[in-house]
Amino acid sequence: MYGNRRHVPIEDVSRFYKLGDPVKGEKEFQIESPGRTIRGKIGTREIYINNVKYILCFPTLKKGRDILISAMDVTKILEPVLRPGKIKNAGPVRTVILDAGHGGHDSGATGRRGMEKEAALDVVLRAKRLLESQGYTVRMTRSSDVFIPLEQRAAYANRFPDAIFVSVHFNKSTKGTASGIETFALAPRGVPSMDEQNFSYSDLRQHPGHARDPENIALATALHSSMLRKMRLYDRGIKRARFVVIRDIKVPGVLLEGGFMNHPVDGNLIASSSFRDAFAKAILEGVNRYSSAVSGKVGTSPMPSAVAKATDPTSVPDIRRNFFPTRMSATLNEAVQRTAESFKKEIETDGN
Ligand SMILES: [Zn+2]
Repeated sequence: MYGNRRHVPIEDVSRFYKLGDPVKGEKEFQIESPGRTIRGKIGTREIYINNVKYILCFPTLKKGRDILISAMDVTKILEPVLRPGKIKNAGPVRTVILDAGHGGHDSGATGRRGMEKEAALDVVLRAKRLLESQGYTVRMTRSSDVFIPLEQRAAYANRFPDAIFVSVHFNKSTKGTASGIETFALAPRGVPSMDEQNFSYSDLRQHPGHARDPENIALATALHSSMLRKMRLYDRGIKRARFVVIRDIKVPGVLLEGGFMNHPVDGNLIASSSFRDAFAKAILEGVNRYSSAVSGKVGTSPMPSAVAKATDPTSVPDIRRNFFPTRMSATLNEAVQRTAESFKKEIETDGN
């Protein structure tokens, strides 16, 4: 017990999941076994499972010779991510509810190349076509430029008990320097969310979405790793929040943030047809992978497990050549260089 929370030594985690012996450094640890790697920075909430970044519910700790991870993180992240086939009552996906963020008078984030509400709807329409061509039933919370209150979106989703829910958004930062993609799953009960500084009593409340904690993180994993592979933007990680649309739904759900509208590189990508197609394909692939992972099937998709490899750690996104014309403006070129460098740095967190 530390800070009133139960913790588990990482050796126990390794043994339980039949992984290799942990390699423990001063500031980091790593657990490896064929096809599976867990890396973490001690004292932080950052952990990588098969190169996909997760923000833990609580920081890892070092006590004497032991490196400890909270029991909450073992049950709410490691277990569903490492063994998605063991999630109770999760079955293959037939219906997908696509939720294009914002709409009508609510434009969402804006950048020089457009508005979030338009980009989100376009991506969702592209994803709908792909999903339907593979036999999924698709429902949409909105299919035109209209305003739909968040509670109404959640209520709509709850009409389809066997569905999964995917909300599509884009970000905006105050300084315009933040870049990359992130995925939000509902913060489990008692876990602080990323959009709040301090722990509050409301964190202890039980919400409908909590019934789906294991599915939520498995779905986030499948979709986020597909986004990394297809969209090749900086990985901001899988995070926790209590946004209404993922909090009040009874079906598994996630909220995807596909880049920053007001970042010069992200903004140009988001405006391009090829990037929107890549996002739509990531949604299709993620849904396929989640579906086969939770139903314990192997071989139905290229990456059957929700624990999928994202980009290699060395593979810095190479988006420039594919998306930009050969004659790039000097300012854009400069911005691209700056982004490449900032991939290695911690980037401001800010959202819309
Ligand atoms: Zn948004």
